[in-house]
Amino acid sequence: MSISKNLAIIRKNITAAISNNNRNVKLVAVTKTQSPASIREAIAAGITTIGENRVQEALEKYPVLTDNPEWHLIGHLQTNKVRQAVALFDLIQSVDSERLLIEINNAAAKINKCQNILIQVNIAEEESKFGILSGQLWQLVNVATQLENINLCGLMTIAPFYSNPESARPIFRELFFLFQELKSNNLKKSNIEWLSMGMTNDYIIALEEGANIIRIGTGIFGIRQ
Ligand SMILES: *Cc1c(COP(=O)(O)O)cnc(C)c1O
Repeated sequence: MSISKNLAIIRKNITAAISNNNRNVKLVAVTKTQSPASIREAIAAGITTIGENRVQEALEKYPVLTDNPEWHLIGHLQTNKVRQAVALFDLIQSVDSERLLIEINNAAAKINKCQNILIQVNIAEEESKFGILSGQLWQLVNVATQLENINLCGLMTIAPFYSNPESARPIFRELFFLFQELKSNNLKKSNIEWLSMGMTNDYIIALEEGANIIRIGTGIFGIRQ
């Protein structure tokens, strides 16, 4: 299947999944391991946002992808990569510690940027996954909203892989609940608008539960090498 055909199917599924609650959905094409040629093909087929897991890989692709997509960091960020990440990414979706927040704020201040971020929550409490536990959310939100060069935009989660994606529904529902709570708090210095959840296997369920960013790799590009 071609990238443009895959995208047409995904777009149809998005429209169907949000028919009860129409909204703008940002489709992030997850481009880890993909060649610039494949990424350009996706951009030609209408992709405007790409997601990378690793800062180094994004740095290599950045100069050759001149179509000016929006760049999202979706993988774990090490503090020694913060400066480069802040210089490159429009949205850092994977913030999961106070230390990281402070480092991002410092790096952003140095280049006069207000860095858009999401807080990653490990709803399923999987030991293998990054992200804070939901009980730590308010503490981190408090820190984020006090930092001058941080713009907190919402929440992100990665659900465990279930062969039946229906099993991920309670996880997405819980993150949506936290997202609604954040929104209703009228936090200062933040603009809570993005709820990033759902990947190839479970994005339809995530959309049904309120996601407005979905992150899809395999579903667009095929199985990764
Ligand atoms: C790889 C990855 C995705 C995309 O996964 P697919 O199953 O290929 O759609 C989404 N989010 C994160 C954080 C990832 O690491």
